[in-house]
Amino acid sequence: MSTKRVLITGAAGFLGSHLCDRFLDEGYEVIGMDNLLTGRLKNIEHLFPLKDFQFYHHDVSKFVHVPGSLDYILHFASPASPIDYLKMPIQTMKVGSLGTHNLLGLAKAKNARILIASTSEVYGDPTIHPQHEEYWGNVNPIGPRGVYDEAKRFQEALTMAYHNFHGLETRIVRIFNTYGPRMRLNDGRALPTFLRQAIEGNDLTVFGDGSQTRSFCYVSDLVEGIYRLLMSDYHLPVNIGNPEEITIREFAEEIIALTGCDQKVIYEPLPKDDPKKRQPDITKAKNILNWSPTIGRKEGLSTTYAYFKQEIEAGSLIH
Ligand code: NAD
Ligand code: UDP
Repeated sequence: MSTKRVLITGAAGFLGSHLCDRFLDEGYEVIGMDNLLTGRLKNIEHLFPLKDFQFYHHDVSKFVHVPGSLDYILHFASPASPIDYLKMPIQTMKVGSLGTHNLLGLAKAKNARILIASTSEVYGDPTIHPQHEEYWGNVNPIGPRGVYDEAKRFQEALTMAYHNFHGLETRIVRIFNTYGPRMRLNDGRALPTFLRQAIEGNDLTVFGDGSQTRSFCYVSDLVEGIYRLLMSDYHLPVNIGNPEEITIREFAEEIIALTGCDQKVIYEPLPKDDPKKRQPDITKAKNILNWSPTIGRKEGLSTTYAYFKQEIEAGSLIH
């Protein structure tokens, strides 16, 4: 049997690069695609010598061409951190809409199964807790986060349309806050910001009073969940995340304790429409995929801390 071929968009980013590693480990031929908007080649540098890896530097919001057959497509290209999508609102909307359309069209042409990276942000500032997949969400379409949230909601709607109208094999993963090595040190998300502040000797900036909650999932757990979802026969959205919920204030304190730094927490204004609570209901992932997270915050944070320390010491603070 010939080697199966998978296209991964957003391959030079945090999650995309880990997915490339996983599919190569599983024996697939991997085509990584990225325009390096928020990703960096360093994340996939180790893959270039491999005969089963190819890289296309391409913007997926423009027509996408891949020669040869494709078995699977994983669409992960998109700015993902609030400061990125606030800086690049139009590109964010284009990659979620036009980019997704191009990749669905490619999947149809190649008769490939496609998995789309959606997000817990489709639930917005949720009015139910924890969030299950049947909840429709509470999103402000014209607020600052709307460019990301609505692009992802459109992405889900378009994916379902291709499934229902064309019979395309589609999968939708709703990813909750995920962390681990290869996150960008200055992408503005809470975890890299706090770790960097702790390592560089600055106070940790908690937004608002820090009572808002998040639930952080370690990257290897997420990748396992995505792999299982792609291989499953379930086409409706599935939450993948770690239900261990923590307030952002406690999270900052946890990082101070972990790093043994002398800094304190300082408070800055809460960004507009910042969700007050977020915790995945993972009943579906458990029942359908037999998946649940295995890495707790203590273990995941210390691995990530070691990575960031090394990055900072090596002076590799790239955009
Ligand atoms: P990231 O910024 O590290 O990676 C995104 C990658 O997409 C980057 O390499 C970037 O250069 C690339 N990209 C952006 N626009 C592109 C375009 N038009 N054409 C080609 N490449 C493009 O972010 P990430 O955390 O790895 O997120 C990956 C995906 O997962 C995103 O779709 C994001 O919405 C989703 N997601 C991530 C999280 C999380 O916690 N990390 C949570 C929910 C959803
Ligand atoms: N946050 C914070 N300080 C920072 C960065 C983020 O207190 O320096 C807060 C942010 O307001 C949010 C939470 O941490 O409530 C998680 O933010 P992140 O950007 O990581 O992801 P989000 O879940 O909001 O997309």
